[in-house]
Amino acid sequence: MIPYSRQTIDEDDVAAVVKVLKSDWLTQGPTIAEFEKALAEYSGARFAVAAPNGTAALYLAYKAAGLKDGDEIITTPNTFVATSNMALICGTRPVFCDIRPDTYNIDENKIEKLITPKTKAIVPVHFAGHPCEMDKIIEIAKKHNLLVIEDACHAIGAEYKNKKIGGIGDLTIFSFHPVKPITTGEGGAILTNNEAYYQTMLRLRTHGIAKDPQKTETIGKWHYEMLDLAFNHRVTDIQCALGLSQLKKLDKFQKARERVANYYFEKLKNLKGVVLPTKLAEIKHSWHLFPINLKDASKRKEVFDYLQANGIGAQVHYIPAHWQPYYQAMGYPKNLCPNAAAYYNAAISLPIFPSLTTEDQDKVIDLLTRALGKEHQ
Ligand SMILES: *Cc1c(COP(=O)(O)O)cnc(C)c1O
Repeated sequence: MIPYSRQTIDEDDVAAVVKVLKSDWLTQGPTIAEFEKALAEYSGARFAVAAPNGTAALYLAYKAAGLKDGDEIITTPNTFVATSNMALICGTRPVFCDIRPDTYNIDENKIEKLITPKTKAIVPVHFAGHPCEMDKIIEIAKKHNLLVIEDACHAIGAEYKNKKIGGIGDLTIFSFHPVKPITTGEGGAILTNNEAYYQTMLRLRTHGIAKDPQKTETIGKWHYEMLDLAFNHRVTDIQCALGLSQLKKLDKFQKARERVANYYFEKLKNLKGVVLPTKLAEIKHSWHLFPINLKDASKRKEVFDYLQANGIGAQVHYIPAHWQPYYQAMGYPKNLCPNAAAYYNAAISLPIFPSLTTEDQDKVIDLLTRALGKEHQ
């Protein structure tokens, strides 16, 4: 099976992990700070906090931003459920804004009318690796005194108007799951330029515990203080060693993903039955996904099943978050976001990852063309 995405692990990644395994620190050691520094430098943000996964990173960012009971965020339904789930965990209500029909990202022109006195943050998701319209989103946020928390789980390495994703909003989240642009096994991070958020997240990551150097001096070296109620959301040096090694190769991975995307564009541009993804001029795409949309949504299952039956691990991203039974039980109307529904109903993600060969892509293209049938070729 050719998967829709997968990790790229080389001998240098293996060596980096083995080196940490043989060191004194498996967790809470120096490799974590080293990885965080490299992430911050890469993304153009002042601070980075590594987390055990992207979902925990979202949670830590939301908590640091002060999301609480009765608040609201405005986000997109075209995302993995973790984006809105972690708001719910904070007692905050996700308000779903419909997507643009071209980039499938949150429609920046539909955000403002969803703002209420309870709104605390806008949470754009850079779907598939295509950055959202950040200038407009930040302008709206400034006007209404809201935070911008970017779910950039698809988008490390992407750029908006020549600025790397990570240093733009108040807080930005990455995921390092094996399907994402770089991996640490499980992993994630939060980027920010705000030192107060940074300090809060470091504390929330480890039981809400802080050490006050002055009190340690007067009371004793064992002294610590728990200031917030929090989980153990620490990350290991093992993960961070892999992350450091992967980060060095991110630009190379990015170029390889771009090559895969360009080949699909070239070979699929005349296929009548599919709408290819849009790439706006002012952005650099990270090509985490290559989402196509069928012109005839009624053929989606048939085409998907045909690809799967022939060894292509096609996927569908995403079932609108508010369609999930949990959200339906909360009373979210199913017809809330018609563009997200229309996109989802006809969506298929084709395989895209750095080591995907042209031969494998030819196989995908051939099977897709056959599955669409004569009238759509
Ligand atoms: C992967 C992903 C997450 C969650 O990240 P994990 O590391 O799997 O917890 C959240 N949001 C989006 C958009 C994602 O793609």
